[in-house]
Amino acid sequence: MAILYKCRHCKQLLGTINQDVIDAKLLGFQALSSEDRKEMIQYVENGDIEIKVICEDCQDTLEHNPHYHALDSFIQ
Ligand SMILES: [Zn+2]
Repeated sequence: MAILYKCRHCKQLLGTINQDVIDAKLLGFQALSSEDRKEMIQYVENGDIEIKVICEDCQDTLEHNPHYHALDSFIQ
């Protein structure tokens, strides 16, 4: 079982955590609202968990091109 951190825009894999037992509390999930959780966290069929984050490249792009905020996946 692994936790995969992926950029929500360019789908780049930013990091993985491998753990036999994943404690949602350790990951700070409880600090998120259930809406955020639904948006950020996806359970993959093989038992992995995907966390949608934003990579530095996309963060940069967004900062310099604020109108891209309106488009969910501007990099394909
Ligand atoms: Zn990205």
